[in-house]
Amino acid sequence: MTPRTIHLDPEEMPRRWYNILPDLPEPLPPPLDPETGKPLGPEKLAPLFPMELIKQEVSTKRFIDIPEEVLEVYRIYRPTPLFRAKYLEEKLGTPAKIFYKYEGVSPTGSHKPNTAIAQAYYNMREGVERLTTETGAGQWGSALSFAGYVYGLKVTVYMVRISYLQKPFRKVLMKLYGADVVPSPSERTPYGRELLKEDPEHPGSLGIAITEAVYDAATNENTKYSLGSVLNHVLMHQTIMGLEAIKQMEMIDMMPDYVVGAVGGGSNFAGLAYPFYMLKKEGKANPKLLAVEPTAAPTLTKGVYTYDFGDTGRMTPLLKMYTLGHTFIPPPIHAGGLRYHGDAPTLCLLKEKGEIDAVAYNQVEVFEAAKLFFTTEGILPAPESAHAVKAAIDLAVEAKEKGEERVILFNLSGHGFFDMKAYEEFIEGRLEPYDYPEEEIRRNIEKLREIVKV
Ligand SMILES: *Cc1c(COP(=O)(O)O)cnc(C)c1O
Repeated sequence: MTPRTIHLDPEEMPRRWYNILPDLPEPLPPPLDPETGKPLGPEKLAPLFPMELIKQEVSTKRFIDIPEEVLEVYRIYRPTPLFRAKYLEEKLGTPAKIFYKYEGVSPTGSHKPNTAIAQAYYNMREGVERLTTETGAGQWGSALSFAGYVYGLKVTVYMVRISYLQKPFRKVLMKLYGADVVPSPSERTPYGRELLKEDPEHPGSLGIAITEAVYDAATNENTKYSLGSVLNHVLMHQTIMGLEAIKQMEMIDMMPDYVVGAVGGGSNFAGLAYPFYMLKKEGKANPKLLAVEPTAAPTLTKGVYTYDFGDTGRMTPLLKMYTLGHTFIPPPIHAGGLRYHGDAPTLCLLKEKGEIDAVAYNQVEVFEAAKLFFTTEGILPAPESAHAVKAAIDLAVEAKEKGEERVILFNLSGHGFFDMKAYEEFIEGRLEPYDYPEEEIRRNIEKLREIVKV
């Protein structure tokens, strides 16, 4: 009998991160300088990131040691538990075994501190005094505010204005850690002022907030920028989850047939799935890797694989990725962390090469799945994580239909206790399924082709 909870001994916590770059099926297309169309030298990133993170971004070492000072902070909540979803399995009557890695036990309730802690640490060591970043619903802003607090750094968070107004509780959490939280678009940057002049009530977007945070870091002394997803070093810091999960699955003599995660920019999916991809490369396991996204931001399932900007104001380098176009205006769905036009370049390359699969669900079916999970397993999923829950349930139902004993592992990347407004709309029947229109994607990509010639 498999126990419901598989705890890893704290002594067994991994001491290295896994870097997928040397294991990719072909070299990752480099970031390009939008002005020259040429590959961007790492020195161009120096105004924004500390040297150690730039080195990690391009490193070809398979493993990178986690500094002792980072491990010490990880120990506040790591290793995180692996649960067998027994009660959900019973409810579904499935022969499948469902497991989930639960990251909601971190101080801010999601996987995001795994990289926030590492990033704040390297910045602190290189003498940086202030970090800037963006946040949508507030998960990333909370994580970086926490990490900044731990290492004595000031943190400025540009928070998408609509979330700032409608989701006040994560703002409170950030302020408890001493962060400066600014609604974006803001008066602090030229781009923000321009947008506010057009529309004083501008709701903002993640792409706009990135532009403001990058500008703030680039134009101020001792200030650097920090990103919560997409970049190679961010995904690498998250592999602590998958490396722990491998040990936990080995403890019960099992290996997953499916590894599943929700994708906003790709960090929680990659953090769980990439270490299993490593096992695949070594011939030790052969799981299918499944990325799950909302139909309202269907980057991997409907986007185009091409070079695009990471932000709306075109401040960032060009990254080769699946994209809906940087002019994508995200529909107001409740999984704030999944409303982004692009995805991590490594993840997109793996999708392009057929190494991972992707599926999209609308928010109504996702909240139905979240309710079933909550009432059987007793944890309320973050709306983002609920996308992975939905996919895992569908795989388990399919296993029942086929009479297959598959093992499913998914990432429960965070809890949903700050998302009660969304759950309220759901129980009152006010949530709409939303499919981002394909004509809009085509229009965004046409605009992109006019601006970007590579
Ligand atoms: C931010 C967030 C996500 C989406 O971001 P990724 O980088 O794709 O992981 C998913 N789940 C939770 C709980 C989040 O906070």
